[in-house]
Amino acid sequence: MEPTTRIEQWEFVHRRLARAKQLIEAGLLETAQGEHGPVYLCRSQTDPTTIYVVQRESCPCPDRFHIDGRKLCKHILARLIVEEQIPLAKIGQEPWPRHQKNGHTRGKERP
Ligand SMILES: [Zn+2]
Repeated sequence: MEPTTRIEQWEFVHRRLARAKQLIEAGLLETAQGEHGPVYLCRSQTDPTTIYVVQRESCPCPDRFHIDGRKLCKHILARLIVEEQIPLAKIGQEPWPRHQKNGHTRGKERP
């Protein structure tokens, strides 16, 4: 199923982000040293005998979801979380720490 509205599209992303966190918590994403840098391997949740080699913008899993022309599955998001060293505790939590400037919190709007 493809999202038909912008909001639905973001809802799809949100769900995948939550699942990406679960993948990492379950220890299904592993990093190995490849010839050209780290390689991200993710074991399928539905079939433990299947392992996906997760690239930054592509993944061989059956998820067809794309956003702005780029594939975005839970495996790619899980790779991003690990690569960018985002603490798992932050994902799905409110609020993210604000950027501080001169001791004041910028902006009044909640994210
Ligand atoms: Zn994938």
